[in-house]
Amino acid sequence: MKVIRTIPEMQEHSRGARVAGRTIGLVPTMGAFHGGHESLMRAARLGSDELVVSLFVNPAQFNDPRDLEAYPRDERRDAMIAERLGVDVLFAPPAEAVYPAGFAATVSVPGISDVLEGAKRGPGHFAGVSTVVAKLFNMVAPDVAYFGQKDAQQVAVIRRMARDLDFPVRIEVLPTIREPDGLAMSSRNVRLSPEERRRAAGLSAALRAVAEATEEDPLRAGLAVLAEHGITPEYLAMVDPDTVQEPGPLVVVAASIGDTRLIDNVLIKRAATPDRRGADPKGAVRVLPTQ
Ligand code: AMP
Repeated sequence: MKVIRTIPEMQEHSRGARVAGRTIGLVPTMGAFHGGHESLMRAARLGSDELVVSLFVNPAQFNDPRDLEAYPRDERRDAMIAERLGVDVLFAPPAEAVYPAGFAATVSVPGISDVLEGAKRGPGHFAGVSTVVAKLFNMVAPDVAYFGQKDAQQVAVIRRMARDLDFPVRIEVLPTIREPDGLAMSSRNVRLSPEERRRAAGLSAALRAVAEATEEDPLRAGLAVLAEHGITPEYLAMVDPDTVQEPGPLVVVAASIGDTRLIDNVLIKRAATPDRRGADPKGAVRVLPTQ
């Protein structure tokens, strides 16, 4: 596995791969690899000839400097995992290379970026994400880029950006990888105390409760589960996966457990509409989890 740290070298490497007729896959990450990252790398390994994994803790998307400071970093371990999974290039540029003195441009996707995570973390968060992903697309020139459903709003922002700016890249989204108790894997999970770690399972339990609820307002079932786990959500909502506006089948939740802020989501699908069934006058439709 090659480790590349400069942008010209990355661009040159991708040019060479393209000339050789090799398709390029990109998995953008902030490191501290877990099963979620590994699943993206495995899919990308199967789906592309030249596999590039970027490792860059992007300061521009952190609204809280303490969160940036505390973000787990272990490049040696990450490099070992990437190598084991057959990654060709670990692209790990320093912040000064990505944001040199005088850097001023921004790529932003207003609307989708302003609600939920954008509202909680501030307008700069998704601008930081879309700007760095646009830059990575220009640095790596991937045919396919892989993202996790875990960050559903990020997926919506990046899909919109790629479409609106005509990036010649296909966006692949892979399911959320979870711990046995349902907690979505996250680099931040290592910061949970044992007691917080137990309570954190309430997030996915709440999403399941919403997905399985039969009452008129399924969110109430989710709120009850969160309360049982001593979790006060920043938001729990059902939104459209593309616009991130209510209403819709994507159930999203965010909450801080102690000092650690976690997010999760699940996509639900109505088993049958009253119309298609033609019978149930109350429209008592069940919602089923699809992941
Ligand atoms: P991060 O390093 O946290 O920026 O994540 C890098 C990529 O991994 C993003 O596309 C995330 O959505 C994805 N990811 C993070 N956690 C998971 C998970 N539990 N399952 C699947 N993908 C994930």
